[in-house]
Amino acid sequence: MKIYADNAATTKMSRTAIDAMLPYMEEFYGNPSSLYSFGQQAKEALESARASIAEYIGAQPREILFTSGGSEADNQAILSAAALGKKSGKTHIISDQIEHHAVLHTLQKLEKEGFSVTYLPVHSDGIVRVEELEAAIREDTCLVTIMYANNEIGTVQPIRQIGEICRAKKIIFHTDAVQAVGHLPIDVVSESVDMLSASAHKFHGPKGVGFLYARKGIRLTNLIEGGAQERGRRAGTENVPGIVAMAAALKESVAHLEENATHAAALRDRLIKGLSEIPHSALNGDAVKRLPSNVNFCFEGIEGESLLLLLDDKGICASSGSACTSGSLDPSHVLLAIGRVHDVAHGSLRLTLGEDATEDEVDYIIQSVKEVVEYLRGFSPVWRNLQAGKSQFIL
Ligand SMILES: *Cc1c(COP(=O)(O)O)cnc(C)c1O
Repeated sequence: MKIYADNAATTKMSRTAIDAMLPYMEEFYGNPSSLYSFGQQAKEALESARASIAEYIGAQPREILFTSGGSEADNQAILSAAALGKKSGKTHIISDQIEHHAVLHTLQKLEKEGFSVTYLPVHSDGIVRVEELEAAIREDTCLVTIMYANNEIGTVQPIRQIGEICRAKKIIFHTDAVQAVGHLPIDVVSESVDMLSASAHKFHGPKGVGFLYARKGIRLTNLIEGGAQERGRRAGTENVPGIVAMAAALKESVAHLEENATHAAALRDRLIKGLSEIPHSALNGDAVKRLPSNVNFCFEGIEGESLLLLLDDKGICASSGSACTSGSLDPSHVLLAIGRVHDVAHGSLRLTLGEDATEDEVDYIIQSVKEVVEYLRGFSPVWRNLQAGKSQFIL
């Protein structure tokens, strides 16, 4: 059996998305900036993709800027808001401790340039408190950047309330919605979102393409200089096949959003129930306010890495958290932020199911994880000490 349970890292491209992009590689491969009609066909495809993407999040087409993915969109959103703030002497930014590194590292860069950043804590449930955000706002706050849904523990933030607060205080609100777009209903108008980042490969589109929504009136700073593509805000010949495929993938995801979410949530809860039977284990993040496909657990007395390798032997693709931190020995900043201590955070497992997952697969995962955890604990010195009472169980 081979089960891909790492859909937060990336997803399989949908047949619809692949079929949509092929003609733009084989037939309509003109440059959208060319004036002859062959180029204009590509240009039309680009603009129709822009319009359809805009519609799914409640934006205007001109508010959508195509990027190389979520990381670029995050960088451009944050650097743009910072540049606007600096012009009016505002150099304070509010974010939180569980953001993706595309956000965190951009903020660290700004801190070196003199900005001050408040990283709001998340409580043990992995959720930012709106009152704490409100209290952190200062006269010189120019940006609030809080992710829509977390990529490791799947927790969904109170975006609408945060949007309302920022709108009332006239502070730009950006949200990294890479994990949410195509999976949760999103409306940038009713949620008062000023900027939003998305990435196609997280909703069955191709890798290397994404978009940034920036509300009309927000002047973007260029990350890439050159030609006048994207109304002068991002130079470089547009990735037409990728953009067309992204729009097709999003259209399909949105059309099936509710049924996919219901199906995934039922399997998620079955998986959570099954894994909870493992002694000294705990679910990470709120059980309800989380993405329909995300399950993240800590198991005491084991190493996450060994767990992943043994699950791989059983055909299960899983993760210990963020793909970006795997390979480093530091435990996940997200798990530390929800209060897991180092040792416990090391024994983490993230399973993110696809829309086509089945009950049989979930049951196989539960059985496999139970076996592997028991096996690893069998020769874990940490586990032996816990059992012997030489150290205290935390979970
Ligand atoms: C995947 C991801 C990103 C990065 O997107 P890329 O398209 O891979 O650059 C950013 N933020 C979150 C929350 C993500 O899950």
